[in-house]
Amino acid sequence: MGLLLKNGLILEKNDLIKKDILIEGKIIKKIQSNIDHDNHQVIDCKNHFVSPGFIDIHVHLREPGYEDKETISTGTKAAAKGGYTLVCAMPNTNPIPDCEKTVDYVLDLIEKKALIKVLPYASITKDQTNENKLVDMVNLKDKVCGFSNDGHGVQSTQVMYEAMLNAYKYETIICAHCEEDSILYGGYVHKGYKAKKEGWNGITSLSESIQIARDTLIAEETKAKYHVCHISTKEGVRIIRDAKKRGVNVTCEVTPHHLLLTENDVYDSNTKMNPPVRELKDKYALISGLIDGTIDMIATDHAPHTYSEKQKGLKEAPFGVVGLETAFPLIYTNFVETEIASLEDVIKWFSYNPAKRLNLEYGKLLPGRIADITVIDLHTEREINSDEFISKGKNTPFNNWTCKGWPILTIVDGKVVFNKGVFYE
Ligand SMILES: [Zn+2]
Repeated sequence: MGLLLKNGLILEKNDLIKKDILIEGKIIKKIQSNIDHDNHQVIDCKNHFVSPGFIDIHVHLREPGYEDKETISTGTKAAAKGGYTLVCAMPNTNPIPDCEKTVDYVLDLIEKKALIKVLPYASITKDQTNENKLVDMVNLKDKVCGFSNDGHGVQSTQVMYEAMLNAYKYETIICAHCEEDSILYGGYVHKGYKAKKEGWNGITSLSESIQIARDTLIAEETKAKYHVCHISTKEGVRIIRDAKKRGVNVTCEVTPHHLLLTENDVYDSNTKMNPPVRELKDKYALISGLIDGTIDMIATDHAPHTYSEKQKGLKEAPFGVVGLETAFPLIYTNFVETEIASLEDVIKWFSYNPAKRLNLEYGKLLPGRIADITVIDLHTEREINSDEFISKGKNTPFNNWTCKGWPILTIVDGKVVFNKGVFYE
């Protein structure tokens, strides 16, 4: 007896075709029109879109250490509700996974508490910021999805060079938060027209682009597998486009907020994130980069904070916004409904490309593959309301935005974990 998804619409060459999916155990057994009920447990998908499960390679689950912001349980529930079947957790927790002991500790917590699949990153350097010591990549690489100091740019060229030499040698990936600290000058928003007008301290685009330039050159020489986190600048897009043309093993991600907002949307701490949202020219460059394949995927950089932390005002509040529960509806509504991109493009950005980059056998609905699936209602229109978030973080810049494309059913390893608002642990 298996699980039978009846009457779902599947994407085939950018057409939505009605097909049934039979799942046995963890595996997709059959995809065809009209599979018999037999003794299967049946879920009627009622002409909703059936997609490979989403993969977000950049989230902050906050546990261990910052459970008042988010836990593995609340974060992965929020992810399941957003249609995600796998997320990659950044290492800025306490302890930081930077050695075998702490990586094992984090893996154990994930095993016990996560509703969906979670792969952790280890940091690139000890304690993330201690650039005097690289982590033991060879012993950690099989336990983690990659190495990242997210939240902190690697300041030393020598350290990044040696990290990439190791990443190439040990066949793993470096995912970099690109930020040059020496030119931050206490900035907390983009250094542009709005910051000048308001008298806010700005962060120049150069603080990101200069490290993207450095790192793609290092990746070119070392042949390392290199990924740029949350790209935000037009210069960054240009550098990566050029590097890809030269055959550098580089990919990058963009967040929904960098695709949809600019400095003009910044007014309070729920629009404060790092890197900051920038100018219209940057936003257009990011959209073009996504369309032409320079940018490979969408990641949320889901960064929950407590209400009181975010109450501190634009200057003092911590950087970051949540994203797991709104990413797909925002992108579907603002890219597919507006005909900027096809549904096929969007599924590549949310599922196929991140899976491919991490060498994971996900991202496609095919017989024989693992049944990580999400079902989406493409028609019902609803307003984003942070009071309804499962995430402990309510810090979204998108409250009251009206969207279509709401995930309604999430299946991980053939098992329903989220169905019409209810979680199954
Ligand atoms: Zn970051």
